Amino acid sequence: MAAGSETERKVSFGFEEVTETEKVARVKGVFRSVASRYDLMNDLMSAGVHRLWKHDAMNRVNPQPGERHLDVAGGTGELARAFLTLADRAAKRRGVDREATAIVCDINDAMLEAGKGRADNEKWTGRLDWVCADGQNLPYPDRSFDAVTVSFGIRNFADRQAGLREFRRVLKPGGRLAVLEFSHMTAPALQAAYDTYSFNVIPKLGSLVAGDADSYQYLVESIRQFPSQDAFKAEMEGAGFSRVSVTNYSGGIAALHFGWAV
Ligand code: SAM
Repeated sequence: MAAGSETERKVSFGFEEVTETEKVARVKGVFRSVASRYDLMNDLMSAGVHRLWKHDAMNRVNPQPGERHLDVAGGTGELARAFLTLADRAAKRRGVDREATAIVCDINDAMLEAGKGRADNEKWTGRLDWVCADGQNLPYPDRSFDAVTVSFGIRNFADRQAGLREFRRVLKPGGRLAVLEFSHMTAPALQAAYDTYSFNVIPKLGSLVAGDADSYQYLVESIRQFPSQDAFKAEMEGAGFSRVSVTNYSGGIAALHFGWAV
């Protein structure tokens, strides 16, 4: 189908309705623009709290020696490095020498390049791979991975269902899926303060630090368009994941959806 065709399905890009083709192109533009300042902006926007959410999510994944991990929309590779660290700790505890491996898969080469440049990759030589690919169409055979993670990525997919089906396909039976994403406040009293911070402070910070207010305006709008905790849980179940649980972080600012492939 031609780009921008009138018959193409429309999806949200922040508060705008665009074709799927246009969303893919614009999301690529957003992350190409912010790639070099991405890690710094995350720390500034969340005062470092995103690291605690990721830490808890990876503890839930519970990486084991010898496992294969795929971090979809993995950006600069933070979760993949955490997976390898925790798998090595488990190996040491259990006295086994099987090494886990991880792949950071992202549609945007600029984000991957920013991640590859980090000094702390050295210790993972031969165990950490970087692949530029679309999470909705993964270049891996069925039942390839023990764990798939997606943090702050699936909100940007043009077709979330296609992504969930792919995660299910590439997971081995008994494999784990962890989706960490911005979500919806569970404490209504804090909503007004959160909205003020999101719409007034974050785009300004984006402008100052990354020279790009629009990309951070997209961030806060896209969070509002993402389904509720219960609705996304139902989407994961619909894609074939079982025992799906939801853990809210910081009053629902973010949530971890965790499920098992059967
Ligand atoms: N997971 C990393 C983290 O938590 O820091 C990066 C998250 S960043 C907010 C979102 C990432 O999703 C970007 O690197 C973007 O390129 C990637 N992305 C968006 N759509 C994608 C798709 N269809 N397939 C793979 N990656 C995608």
